[in-house]
Amino acid sequence: MIYTSRTKKMAVIGDPIDHSLSPFMHGKIIEEHGWDALYIPVRVAGGETSRFAEAAAALDFAGFNATMPHKLALLDIVDDLDPAAAGYGAVNTVRIRDGRMAGYNTDVDGLMAALRRRGAAPAGAGILVIGAGGVAGALIRGFSDQGAAAVTVVNRTFEKARKAVDGAARAAALEWTDDNLAEAAAQADIIVNCTPLGMTGVNGNFSDLSFLDRSHALVCDLIYNPWQTKLLTYAAARGLETMNGMDMLIFQGLLSFQIFTDWELDLRKEYEYLYPLCRAQLK
Ligand code: NAP
Repeated sequence: MIYTSRTKKMAVIGDPIDHSLSPFMHGKIIEEHGWDALYIPVRVAGGETSRFAEAAAALDFAGFNATMPHKLALLDIVDDLDPAAAGYGAVNTVRIRDGRMAGYNTDVDGLMAALRRRGAAPAGAGILVIGAGGVAGALIRGFSDQGAAAVTVVNRTFEKARKAVDGAARAAALEWTDDNLAEAAAQADIIVNCTPLGMTGVNGNFSDLSFLDRSHALVCDLIYNPWQTKLLTYAAARGLETMNGMDMLIFQGLLSFQIFTDWELDLRKEYEYLYPLCRAQLK
C-alpha cells in the first residue's frame, strides 16, 4: 500500500495496546474494500491523552479509538460531545474534522447490534449486569434508555453499583450474594458479565456459577479471550444461549469506522466477513 497526504489516518490508543484486535479488524475492512486508509495502534500512557489528541488533530487524522485508560479523560478533551457519550460517561471514538474533535461512544450501540443479531432486544427485557465499571456504567444507561423492564446490577463493590444505577430508569443495585445473584438471574432475559473474571491473563474467576441454574437468559460475556469463558461453558452446558465479547467488539469497531470515514458499511455483511477472521486471529 502506498500512502499519500489524502490517506485517511486512524488509530487506536491505549496502554497496554498490543493485545488490541482493532488494528487487525480495521485493517481487514480497509483491505477488503481497497480503501486509501490506515489504522495504527499507538501506546499512549494515562495522562498523555490530551497530548496525543492534539497531535492527531495536527497530523490531520480522521479519528481514533480509545481504550483503557483514556475513555473518561476524553470526555473533557473533545470539543463536541455526542449526547449519548455524555450520558454513558465515556468516549471510545473521536472523530476529527478541521482540527475539531467530536467524542462518541460505540460500545453500547455495538452490544445492542450484537444482541439484535441474536434476536434479543433490551426493550421490555429483564437484564442482569454483573460489574459496575466503565463499560457496565454505559451499558446500564443504554439498557435503561432503550426501555428495559428492569436492570439489576450486582458488583463486588456495592457502592459502585449504587452509583452506576443512579439516574438510570428502572435500574437497581443489589449486594453480590449467592441468593441475590440467583434471584436476579432467574428473573433476567439477558445476563451480561462486565467484569474481567475468567479473562486470559487475569487472576480470578467465578467460584460458583450455580446462580445460573434457574435462568432462561441469553448469557453474554464481554470477554472474547478465552473464546468460551467458564461462565459461558457453564451456561451452554445448561442449554442457555451464549454470546462472547467478539460480536460487541466487531460491531463497535464497524460503527467507529463509519464515524471516522463517513463511508457506509453493510454492518451485517461486514460482521460475517470479520467474525471468522477475528476468531482465527485469537487461536
Ligand atoms: P473496569 O472499569 O475496570 O471495571 C471492572 C469491573 O469488574 C468492576 O465492576 C470491578 O468491580 C469488577 N471486577 C474486577 N475484578 C473483579 C474480581 N476479581 N471479582 C469481582 N469483580 C471484579 O473495566 P471495564 O472497562 O468496564 O471492562 C470490563 C470488561 O469488559 C473487561 O473484561 C473488558 O475486557 C471487557 N470489554 C469488552 C469489550 C468488547 O467489545 N467485547 C469492550 C469493552 C470492555 P469493583 O467495582 O469492585 O472493582
